[in-house]
Amino acid sequence: MKGMMMQRPLRIADILEFGAEQYPRGEIISVRTEGDLHRYTYPQAAARTRQLANGLLAKGVEMGDRIATLAWNGYRHFELYYAIQGIGAICHTINPRLSPEQLIYIINHAEDKMLCLDTTFIPLIAAVKDHLPKDLTYVIMVDKDKMPADLPFEALCYEDLLDGQPDTIEWPEFDENTACGLCYTSGTTGNPKGALYTHRSTVLHAMMIVVMQTSSFVEGGKVLPVVPLFHVNAWGLPYSAPLAGLSIVFPGAALDGENLFKLMDSEGVYSAWGVPTIWMGLMAEIQKQGRMPNGFKDVVVGGSACPRSLMKAFEERGASVSHAWGMTEMSPVGSHGVIPAWMNDAPLEERLDMKQRQGRRCFGVEFKIVDEDGKRQPHDGKHSGELFVRGNTVVSGYFKNEEATKKALDAEGWFGTGDVASIDHNGILTISDRAKDLVKSGGEWISSIDLENLAMAHPAVANAAVIAVPHKKWDERPVLVAVARGEEKPSLEAMQEHMSEHFAKWQLPDDILWVDQLPLTATGKVSKLTLRQTFKDYVHPDER
Ligand code: AMP
Repeated sequence: MKGMMMQRPLRIADILEFGAEQYPRGEIISVRTEGDLHRYTYPQAAARTRQLANGLLAKGVEMGDRIATLAWNGYRHFELYYAIQGIGAICHTINPRLSPEQLIYIINHAEDKMLCLDTTFIPLIAAVKDHLPKDLTYVIMVDKDKMPADLPFEALCYEDLLDGQPDTIEWPEFDENTACGLCYTSGTTGNPKGALYTHRSTVLHAMMIVVMQTSSFVEGGKVLPVVPLFHVNAWGLPYSAPLAGLSIVFPGAALDGENLFKLMDSEGVYSAWGVPTIWMGLMAEIQKQGRMPNGFKDVVVGGSACPRSLMKAFEERGASVSHAWGMTEMSPVGSHGVIPAWMNDAPLEERLDMKQRQGRRCFGVEFKIVDEDGKRQPHDGKHSGELFVRGNTVVSGYFKNEEATKKALDAEGWFGTGDVASIDHNGILTISDRAKDLVKSGGEWISSIDLENLAMAHPAVANAAVIAVPHKKWDERPVLVAVARGEEKPSLEAMQEHMSEHFAKWQLPDDILWVDQLPLTATGKVSKLTLRQTFKDYVHPDER
């Protein structure tokens, strides 16, 4: 027998309308590329979002169209999220740290109709423009009087899209499984792969994280997403903040410790979310100033495991730190490290032991760990294996990529994360290693395999492997281990030059270690495990 309840589609537009109505004093505060601080309330944000939606419709944007953004965290980027998605189009957030090749690939693969960009990224687009779709409409996200006079391509001004448009709209109603957002992950070898979120998955994810991360979602508090809007929707914060009545502080482009401290201090930011590299920078500034930013109480760390010493430094200064673990393919949050209530009064070192782990799964996300043969392992804290996930906020495949889709899911339809983990009797997750061959530097991926292939294309290199080495600031950095073909051993600069055509500068190896041969596994593959062991005492040049 079916129940007798109404079924209304979960729509993203309703989140901001709800926030504007229920938390009219909620604010959005943004550091702008124009150089100043912009602030307005949720009702004002909602009004401009409706104007923008009308402007996009007037430009012929239709349901399903992909509208790309290439922008920092700021109010216009936030408006684009809601306006694009509200009218049933798809917001394709682009990571500006991708290589030019990847940028060209994803814009063409997504078949974007419009690209909205901050002035910062004009040179980036000018350099690749000839390889982008001919009918792409460019929009510069800037005040009218700050529109650059000498633009290298034809573009509209963002404010012109809104000008003269009504600030009311009847948001269209559609199936809640309609696509709303597209985010490419470069977390593997080959071309980036697109995670295509739905209205349903996004709204559920927003509600899920409000429930799980109760320490962060305090009505009237201010949250600072340092995590970019181009990186898995800033971990869902633009959606969960209006649901929970938090004001949002968008930091713009300056993410160094000094600027973040100033902003957080003057705004009284309560909760801030980002990768460990960012918190290292902020902690250095905190130590310099000898105090915490005013009102700062809650640090959420994701993207990579947070060093214990960093967690301790925040905890000792009165802020609570917790991990969030997840992936682009998971919207992204899958687990949270808020310690169980029974540990609240435990000594700091015990709490840190717990906080070092990736924590408890979010409701709606299921975990299983399997060994190399795909056999499920017990959740006893001892057995480990690759972590597979399932749930309403997990991708069911990749956008227009059947091959990658097939590889991503197992026979039972679970998604393989590429993380090696164990889960204990209390359901607490520990990520212990990475099965995927990648380096994560400052929260961004570098594919070891792609670097190796390129290194081996150099005539003087017979064999090459890239390993991740620990780095205080960037968490990990790539180092090339190479075997020379003959006498010639190219310099680091020569190798970087050789590789720079296909990689962004920050992705290039920082060092070359010449060896006579690379260690092999039983199946004849390069044994990264042995290499990591061999170079375990290696110290990155920055830290010598
Ligand atoms: P991305 O899709 O770029 O967000 O990267 C997801 C991957 O980052 C995960 O599969 C993990 O390897 C890693 N990761 C994310 N959060 C954490 C965390 N809290 N602790 C350890 N690794 C993490």
